[in-house]
Amino acid sequence: NIGEVKDLGAVLQNDAAGIGLFRSEFLYLQSDHFPTEDEQFQSYKTVAEVMAGKKVIIRTLDIGADKQIDYFGLEHEDNPALGYRAVRICLDQPDIFKTQLRALLRASMFGNISIMIPMIASVWEVRKVKEIMEEVKAELTSEGIPFKNVEFGIMIETPAAVMISDLLAEEVDFFSIGTNDLTQYTLAIDRQNPKLDSFYDSHHEAILRMLQMVVDNGHKHGCWVGICGELGADTTLTSTFLKMGFDELSVSPAMILRVREEIRNTKVEE
Ligand code: PEP
Ligand code: MG
Repeated sequence: NIGEVKDLGAVLQNDAAGIGLFRSEFLYLQSDHFPTEDEQFQSYKTVAEVMAGKKVIIRTLDIGADKQIDYFGLEHEDNPALGYRAVRICLDQPDIFKTQLRALLRASMFGNISIMIPMIASVWEVRKVKEIMEEVKAELTSEGIPFKNVEFGIMIETPAAVMISDLLAEEVDFFSIGTNDLTQYTLAIDRQNPKLDSFYDSHHEAILRMLQMVVDNGHKHGCWVGICGELGADTTLTSTFLKMGFDELSVSPAMILRVREEIRNTKVEE
């Protein structure tokens, strides 16, 4: 999991097999204007080139809630975690979204990029994203700009997405579970409030059952399934994740070798 091009050194140093979560909103957070298509393209191209053919999963814009950006002019909300954020902004302001998708598709020519959409709660949202993606592809094609057929996935981080993961799996190539938000929304606990730390329990049986449900539904319908929330790096659960059938764990660079060691120490039949 990284958010900035400058983190690539740590990714390589720790011998990552790829990038499971590139938090693209950092490009927006570090800018004082909407990053242009070319600015974004340069960043995505660099990440793809440096990773030299290894998978790079770039998450589309996930702002709102805890991540605010002045130039977006977002209004004050009483419940920002339940508010105008992530894919909701992208579907409401398709021009911003299309700029990002164009940059991502152009960069796809320089490596192995996958596109991942955050905060999905309904099937129609995924279909709408795919429709917009098709429009962008048609525009690029008509302009003679090449792109690859990128792998397309969604984050599973709302309880609704878990419950309809069988239907969502029909629409996408992969799922990556965002356990940070999934825990917040499932246990009704604000992840930002330190007073609630002792209640914020990602090992809650409700979460573990949801993880299993998502793996089973994903696999039944042809999707691979990973975890990109902090829980993926929790080595007390690594063998549990393997037993559940997870195909991928995406963790911060500093945790890669610890988690890999734990995987190697787990017997397959366990
Ligand atoms: C998550 O919610 O688990 C996640 C990986 O995304 P973020 O922490 O950026 O919301
Ligand atoms: Mg999240």
